[in-house]
Formats: sequence, structure tokens, C-alpha cells
Amino acid sequence: MNDKYRIVVDAGHGGADSGAVSGNLLEKDFNLQAANYMYNRFKELGVPVTITRDTDKTLSRSERLNTMKSLGTDPNVIILSNHINAGGGVFPYGW
Ligand SMILES: [Zn+2]
Repeated sequence: MNDKYRIVVDAGHGGADSGAVSGNLLEKDFNLQAANYMYNRFKELGVPVTITRDTDKTLSRSERLNTMKSLGTDPNVIILSNHINAGGGVFPYGW
């Protein structure tokens, strides 16, 4: 049982924002599947956790950031932002 760290799981993109596309494969769908798995697993382990979205919906930048900050902004909050990109690697939301 973890009583120190809190985790925010972010499912990148969503809704009208598909992220990377290859044929009929959409990044947002893979991000959501991975994020939901992570969220449920952390809950099973008793780790305080929240998720930015658990369905395919559009999030504004401020909605996503507000969820990310909902567990606090101290160093014990870990943000895991799921992206399956073709390139880049820059945290896309600002802080
Ligand atoms: Zn992405």
C-alpha cells in the first residue's frame, strides 16, 4: 500500500483530437485503452490515482490540466501521459 505518491493517468488526445493516424488506427484509442488499464491497476494496488478521461471525449487544455492538478502539484504527484506518437516527445500541455 502506497501512502506517499499520487498518480495522474492521462489518456492523450480524445474525441475530436485523434492524435496520430495510420489507416483506421487512431492514437487516441490506444492511449485510452492503456490509460484505463493503468488507472484500474493502480486502484487495485491501493495507489491514489485519477484519470483525465475514461471515455472517448474531447478535453480542453484547461480541463486536462485541472484534472492533472487535482491531486496536487507537489513532487509526490506523478503524471503518466500516454502518447503513441510518430515523433516529438515534448509534453504537449504546458504547465
Ligand atoms: Zn499523442
